[in-house]
Amino acid sequence: AKESGKNSWRFYKKSMQQDACENMSIQHNLRYAIERGELALHYQPIVSLPDRDIISFEALLRWTSPEHGAVPPDRFIKLAEQSDLIHLLGRWVLREACKFARTMTDLGLGQISVSVNISPCQLEARDFVSLVRRSIETAAIQPSQLELEVTENVLIHSMEDSIRKLQELKVYGVRLSLDDFGVGYSSLTYLKNLPVKKLKIDKSFIDKILSDDAQFAGAIIHMAHSLGLVVVAEGVETEQQAAELFKYRCDYIQGYLLSRPVPWEQAIDLLIAFRRE
Ligand code: C2E
Ligand code: CA
Ligand code: CA
Ligand code: CA
Repeated sequence: AKESGKNSWRFYKKSMQQDACENMSIQHNLRYAIERGELALHYQPIVSLPDRDIISFEALLRWTSPEHGAVPPDRFIKLAEQSDLIHLLGRWVLREACKFARTMTDLGLGQISVSVNISPCQLEARDFVSLVRRSIETAAIQPSQLELEVTENVLIHSMEDSIRKLQELKVYGVRLSLDDFGVGYSSLTYLKNLPVKKLKIDKSFIDKILSDDAQFAGAIIHMAHSLGLVVVAEGVETEQQAAELFKYRCDYIQGYLLSRPVPWEQAIDLLIAFRRE
């Protein structure tokens, strides 16, 4: 037993070293991913209940590296956040997402908005507000066509500075939503401080909605509405979940039930297909 204990420790240590090496290699390759054209944005529709009109798309970053294959965004974004790389990626994502919004308008598909995930460190950058304004102006879209998804983590550091920037963007016309609500320390205090109008309930609550823990999602929706917020349920995978969410008067749903995140050409096809229904 002692032997095998030693072996598993050795294995553990080795795999930690491999991880650290791989992380460094990922960071190194990520730096060139943009210029090598390895990045793409995929778009996932967000639809109204019960009509299922597409009201917006969430932009989700994808990276296929020749060395590492398809790296999950959770992983490479965390690594990008540990260096200045997040600013490079963040700028690219904003520009691409605004371009997509412009394409939808050009195709006469209406002013559908695009949501972009924003890391806390992006918001902390001094020029964040002007970066967002420039992305909007360059693509010649309405500020209301861009939505920024932030998590309560933006309040961990420089809370006042972050709130002031979000407020400024809100006045400019950009929409703001609070992502992953319910995990972490989400509380009413945060909601009161952040100038958001939309709240996204984390998938973990939707997973439980048909079980004994169902009342949480219902309570969050009720609370959000009483504060004048609209609610998106994330990670909706079944018709039963959608039906339950409708019962709770959830405003919008997003999830594999409707579509996985897809490249922009397919997102346009979805928009046209949903229109016809
Ligand atoms: P998120 O913002 O909470 O995005 C939702 C995640 O849930 C996405 O994972 C999406 O593909 C996935 N999802 C959507 N519907 C379903 C469903 O019905 N079932 C399941 N199982 N999953 C569903 P993804 O694309 O892997 O992204 C993971 C996270 O990476 C995102 O979580 C976000 O925090 C981060 N991320 C992605 N793109 C960006 C980006 O451009 N910038 C930043 N800062 N973060 C990003
Ligand atoms: Ca999000
Ligand atoms: Ca989320
Ligand atoms: Ca998440």
